Amino acid sequence: MPTTDEYRRTIPAGTVIFHEGETGNCAYVIERGTVEISTQVGSEKMVIARRVAGEIFGEMAVVDNRPRSATVTAVTECELLILSAEQLHARLKRLDPVLRMVLTVILERFRDTMQRFKSEAIGNLIPYQPASTQGIESQLQAHKEAIERLELEQSLKKAIARKELVLHYQPLICCKTGRIKSFEALVRWQHPNHGMVPPGAFIAAAEQSGLICDISRYVIDKACESLTMLRAEAQAMGTTEDLSISVNVTAREFADEAFVDYITSCLERHNTAPHSLALEITESMLMKNAEVTLRTLKRCRDIGLSISIDDFGTGYSSFSHLHRFPVNTLKIDRSFVAENLGEASGKEMVRAMIALGHGLGLEVVAEGIEHPHQASVLQLFGCDYFQGYLFSKPVSFDAAMALVREWRGDEEQAFQVANNLRQSIRAAG
Ligand code: C2E
Ligand code: CA
Ligand code: CA
Repeated sequence: MPTTDEYRRTIPAGTVIFHEGETGNCAYVIERGTVEISTQVGSEKMVIARRVAGEIFGEMAVVDNRPRSATVTAVTECELLILSAEQLHARLKRLDPVLRMVLTVILERFRDTMQRFKSEAIGNLIPYQPASTQGIESQLQAHKEAIERLELEQSLKKAIARKELVLHYQPLICCKTGRIKSFEALVRWQHPNHGMVPPGAFIAAAEQSGLICDISRYVIDKACESLTMLRAEAQAMGTTEDLSISVNVTAREFADEAFVDYITSCLERHNTAPHSLALEITESMLMKNAEVTLRTLKRCRDIGLSISIDDFGTGYSSFSHLHRFPVNTLKIDRSFVAENLGEASGKEMVRAMIALGHGLGLEVVAEGIEHPHQASVLQLFGCDYFQGYLFSKPVSFDAAMALVREWRGDEEQAFQVANNLRQSIRAAG
C-alpha cells in the first residue's frame, strides 16, 4: 500500500488499491483511469460503483478514522494523486464546526445504510458493528464543538440586537512628532455574565455565520460617530492634528456590493471626511480574493477612503502584486516587532519592510510595540507610526477622549525613554 509521503502513484490494471476493513491513511484523486468499488456480501463480491478521472475515493475512512468500508480495485491502469490523512485533517480542522458535525453524521448514516443493505442482501442481520473508541470520541468532539458554535452564534445575534458590542480605541503615534495621529477601533463584547469578551473569541464565528457583516456595519457607524467627538475634543484643546480612525474589515464585506454605499451613508451621517476613515484589510485577504478585493478597493479609493494592509509580513504576499492595490499604509505585524528586533537579521527584515513600504509610496505603521528599545530601532529605520502597549492599550471611548486631552505628558515620557535608549545604543557603537 502507498505510504502517506508518496504524492502520486501509477497503478496497473487489476491491482487492489485497498481492502475493506483496512485502516485508511489517505484518500485518492483519480487523474487517469477507472476504479471499481466493491464490498463483500457473504461469500459474494458486490460492485457498488465505478469512479473515473477527476473523482475522489477512500476519503470516508480518513475523515473519521474508521476502517475502509469497501475494497477498491484498478479497472484500467490508473494515475492516482494521493491526499494524505494529514492534508485532509488540516482542512477538516479549518472547517466550520457545524459543517464538520454534519459531515460526520452523514458518514455515520451512510455506513448504517450500507450495513442494512448488506444485511438484507444476504437475508440475515449482520451483527451491529460499533465505531471504534477513537471514532466515537472524534464524533462526540465534533458534536460538542458544533453545539458550542451554534450557541455562540445565537447569543452573538442577540448581543448585536441588544447593542452589547462596544468599541475600544488604540492610538497610533506619529514617530516624528510623538502626537496621536489616529485610533484603531477594536470591537469587544460587553457580555452580561462573562464581562468583556475579546474579539478573538467571536470574530471567527461571526465570519463563518455571516454575522460579521452586521458587526462591521455597527463598527463603521460607531467609529465615524466617535471620530467626530474625538476631533471636536482635539480642536477644543487647540491641536491642529487631523485625527483619523481605522476599522478592520473582512473578505465578506468586500464581496458585498452594498458595502461601499453603506460606508458613504455613514460618512454623510456623521459629517466625516472620507480620507479620515481607513479600512484595515489583512494581507492574506488581499492575496486570496485578489480580483473581488481589487474591484472593491478601487471603489473605496474613488470615494476617497484610506486603505491599510494589516498584519503585513504574515500573509505570504507576492510583492509583484502589491503595487496593483490602491493602498495607503502598511502595518507591520506585531510578531516582527516582538520576536525579531532583538537580532541583527530580524532588524534587517523590518528595515527592508519599511523600505519596501516607502518605495511603494506607502506610510508604515509598526504594531505591538511594548518596549522603548523597539520604538527606538523603528524610529531609526524611518517607521512613520507606532502602535502598541508602550503608548496605550486599546481603551474605552471616554479614556480615548482623555488621551486626546492629556496626551502631551505621556508622549514626552515615552519619548524620553526611547531617546535615552537610542543614545545609549549609539554610544555603545
Ligand atoms: P488586529 O487588527 O491586528 O488588532 C490589533 C490587536 O493587537 C488588538 O487585539 C490589540 O489589542 C493588540 N495589540 C495592540 N498593541 C499590542 C501590544 O503592544 N502587544 C500585544 N501583545 N498586543 C497588542 P484585539 O483588540 O484583541 O483584536 C484582535 C484582532 O481581532 C484584531 O487584530 C482584528 O483582527 C480582530 N478585530 C478586532 N476588532 C474587529 C472588528 O471590528 N472587525 C473585525 N473584522 N475584526 C476585528
Ligand atoms: Ca487591525
Ligand atoms: Ca494587525
